[in-house]
Amino acid sequence: MESYQVNQEGYYGPFGGAYIPEILHRCVEELRVNYLRVLESDEFRQEFNALLRDYVGRPSPLYLARRLSRKYGCRIYLKREDLNHTGAHKINNAIGQVLLAQRMGKRRIIAETGAGQHGVATATVCALMGLECVVYMGKTDVERQHVNVERMKMLGARVCAVTSGNMTLKDATNEAIRDWCCHPEDTYYVIGSTVGPHPYPDMVARLQSVISEEIKKQLLLHEGRDYPDYLVACVGGGSNAAGTIYHYLDDERVRIVLAEAGGKGTDTGLSAATIQLGRPGIIHGAKTLLLQDEDGQILEPYSLSAGLDYPGIGPMHANLAAKHRATVYAINDDEALRAAFELTRLEGIIPALESAHALGALEKMRFRPQDVVVLTVSGRGDKDISTYLAHMDGKGGEGASKVDY
Ligand SMILES: *Cc1c(COP(=O)(O)O)cnc(C)c1O
Repeated sequence: MESYQVNQEGYYGPFGGAYIPEILHRCVEELRVNYLRVLESDEFRQEFNALLRDYVGRPSPLYLARRLSRKYGCRIYLKREDLNHTGAHKINNAIGQVLLAQRMGKRRIIAETGAGQHGVATATVCALMGLECVVYMGKTDVERQHVNVERMKMLGARVCAVTSGNMTLKDATNEAIRDWCCHPEDTYYVIGSTVGPHPYPDMVARLQSVISEEIKKQLLLHEGRDYPDYLVACVGGGSNAAGTIYHYLDDERVRIVLAEAGGKGTDTGLSAATIQLGRPGIIHGAKTLLLQDEDGQILEPYSLSAGLDYPGIGPMHANLAAKHRATVYAINDDEALRAAFELTRLEGIIPALESAHALGALEKMRFRPQDVVVLTVSGRGDKDISTYLAHMDGKGGEGASKVDY
């Protein structure tokens, strides 16, 4: 049987690889020959695991959500990445890559960010390690995500507002790549998701795989078996999903469900549903599915959730969808909002708007009472409160009266 993990050449089926300009070849090659050796060394693992435990607060709980389970007629466990330091799963990856950078002798850290969550995670780890940090962010996003910009500055990072293109994540990524080209000797580029040229998607998936490593142990304690019937996660670039499914990729007993952002609807032109609407192309160094027009120009994605509006998708996930290993649902803005209010009212947990897309997939699925479902709550909703407030009307969950709001 063919594995769904990356192969020797850096491909997941037809997707992945490293399509990079000549000038970056040395940087990416240096990373490729070093990452496995470092990530698998005892010394790295000890420091990484100690920080995940004492600084991030891992293991994150696996929580049996009783009222949500009753509603959907199965046993739903929530993997609580929202309880991590800085409020999401991104810190797992940022810590791992910065530790790797140190071991490669790099003193200057750069990162791209869209909504600012990955920028904050990277700036946090650089503060912790006393490293210089530069974060590239589209000017539009700098204006939209003011609080995260202030957080990064307070943490000591320099935030560069990018004014090319649409001034969003794609343009920030281009600018970060340009910086890396100019400073290959001392600079390490921390990518925030399972995207970019090989070895980034595999490296980020490995660093996030602590999520499924914990799920295995926790499920064994709760259910007496170490695998669920369903794993559910949202997909922007794919890192929280990759972490959730990593140790189950080749275990066909486990069904994988991915939720991408439908935006206002996949037929409206305002969508980020890359798997459903994308065609193969190359973006930021990888061959993957991509929102593009007839001429191959990259289309601007749209989602109410800033963390999900990337025009590409990780090559691992593109392959899982193409091979029908994963079921993919496009969850629209209004469906995600409804799911966020539902979780809040049923369980007292306000999820990130990204995570609410994973919750929105439950509506589309049919369960048997004995089914065990693990759904990753990738982050907390504090950053999305103003969006939730603006959409409060009529979103009362089952049994909740509107007057209560
Ligand atoms: C960034 C982010 C995502 C999307 O990124 P992935 O790499 O697909 O996980 C999802 N949820 C939260 C809370 C995020 O901050």
